[in-house]
Amino acid sequence: MKEKDGVMIGLECHVQLDTVTKLFCGCKTQAEEPNSACCPVCLGHPGSKPVLNAKALDYALKVAAALGCEINREFFFSRKTYFYPDMSKNFQITQYEIPLGLKGSVTLSSGRKIGITRVHLEEDPAALVHESGMGTSNFSLVDYNRSGIPLVEIVTEPDMVSPEEARDFLDQLTTILSYLKVFSPTTGVLKADCNASVYGHARVEVKNVTGKKGVEKALAYEIARQKNLLLNEKNIVRETRAFDEKTMTTRATRGKETEADYGYITDPDLTAFELSEEDIEGMKKALPELHADKAKRFVEELGLDEYTAKVLANNFQLGNVFEQVAKEVESKLAAKFLTRELMAVVNRSELDLDKIELDPEEISALLKLLSSGKITEKVSKQALIVYLTRNIPPTKFVEKQGLSKDLGEGEIEKAVEAVLIQNKQAVSDLKQGKQKSLNFLVGYVMRLTKAKAEPRLVQEMILKKVKGM
Ligand code: ADP
Ligand code: MG
Ligand code: ZN
Repeated sequence: MKEKDGVMIGLECHVQLDTVTKLFCGCKTQAEEPNSACCPVCLGHPGSKPVLNAKALDYALKVAAALGCEINREFFFSRKTYFYPDMSKNFQITQYEIPLGLKGSVTLSSGRKIGITRVHLEEDPAALVHESGMGTSNFSLVDYNRSGIPLVEIVTEPDMVSPEEARDFLDQLTTILSYLKVFSPTTGVLKADCNASVYGHARVEVKNVTGKKGVEKALAYEIARQKNLLLNEKNIVRETRAFDEKTMTTRATRGKETEADYGYITDPDLTAFELSEEDIEGMKKALPELHADKAKRFVEELGLDEYTAKVLANNFQLGNVFEQVAKEVESKLAAKFLTRELMAVVNRSELDLDKIELDPEEISALLKLLSSGKITEKVSKQALIVYLTRNIPPTKFVEKQGLSKDLGEGEIEKAVEAVLIQNKQAVSDLKQGKQKSLNFLVGYVMRLTKAKAEPRLVQEMILKKVKGM
């Protein structure tokens, strides 16, 4: 890993905690109108006093515990001082000397472990909106709705070796966060400062990259840029860069300030906090089952192969839907349908699985129709596409199309019998082991049933009947 042109990547991830109100005041975290959800506390008016949101603390502690961190029983908040229009107080309330959690890890899908340096709680600054005005008058707007939104910062060791690994790390991390129910993949924002270096050379930090895809792209560009500099025998300077999503490139911003420049001081408005040993133990015990354990259980209890189990458990919703559906129909059928058919539609139509609400009852009902031969595999796939892309319940679709009409097993059996009687030659050929005549007979039954029978079922029935003839 640390050979000549090996790469080192470390991430400082900022994840929005899914609370109703902000970190130190009662303002809502979701608001439409700009600057409609702010108050003297989150704007930092003189005399205003912050009060810690207990829910946000609970969420951040859960994150620290789930990542296997040592949790500090005593902690406090610090003011990180800087001047910028996104920070009306001129300081951000964060944790510096003593974070909530230290020394954890996240396991990648390859099984490799990435070290977590620290986990701490802090507030988000405001959002700057850069508008291009008429003519030459460009201007920026500030939306203070974001200022004071609770973030958990998760800092990794420089253990990742490629942009793909960084992406996988973020996938694993967001899966854990959604299992903990502390992060919303639809409304929550994930940003990361991406640190990258070629082994033995200076490190560059690409600040404030939004989203998992953004992180992967920014790192890919940045590493290529650094390797190119070295190829041309140029130096890599230690600096802070910004990522431009439009051009997918990074550019230099300013010299890297050291942490000391921020002049951290203990926030005098927020007293030191203390957690009891019982608080921490209780919280650890109450942690939900996470995706790795869920996948293991799918293998051990439901007989799935490891790969399928992981695909299901790696998405919070998919894992839950599978568990519900597997109570109603054969678990392997449910697993195959969700990981192959459903994921195929999701990928082909470029849907975001986290933005689709899946109803386990609808999926169970559809699979029951399929396994009892009332609908064909083809129809089940059509129903699924319509469900995922147009939100029409599968049972409604099947009913409307009249596709399950009169197609009980009895009906199919009748058709099979009729076809066998009419095709004596093909039947005797089949008895001699001619595969072609099996196909011929199945095709005949399909025509007779107007393709409403399940070919697999028809084939099984023919073979059974011919064997007994
Ligand atoms: P700073 O105080 O400058 O923010 P830290 O030591 O806190 O630096 O590290 C910040 C991030 O940079 C961490 O995620 C860490 O893993 C990463 N990092 C440190 N050294 C390197 C390196 N040589 N190459 C890539 N990333 C690094
Ligand atoms: Mg830093
Ligand atoms: Zn407020």
